[in-house]
Amino acid sequence: MAERHKLYEVDPGTGRIKLKRRICPKCGRIMGYYAGSSPRWYCGYCHHVEYVRQT
Ligand SMILES: [Zn+2]
Repeated sequence: MAERHKLYEVDPGTGRIKLKRRICPKCGRIMGYYAGSSPRWYCGYCHHVEYVRQT
């Protein structure tokens, strides 16, 4: 639970951002990441969805 603020990690070799696991703000469980045209985090327990902003 103490890791909830660390959502991203930059790879020092490539400089690319890697997504880390995210904690559901509603139920506190691990959310799953789903890539695609609208990448998002989805909680399989309470069905909370957070869309990922990309530039
Ligand atoms: Zn949840």
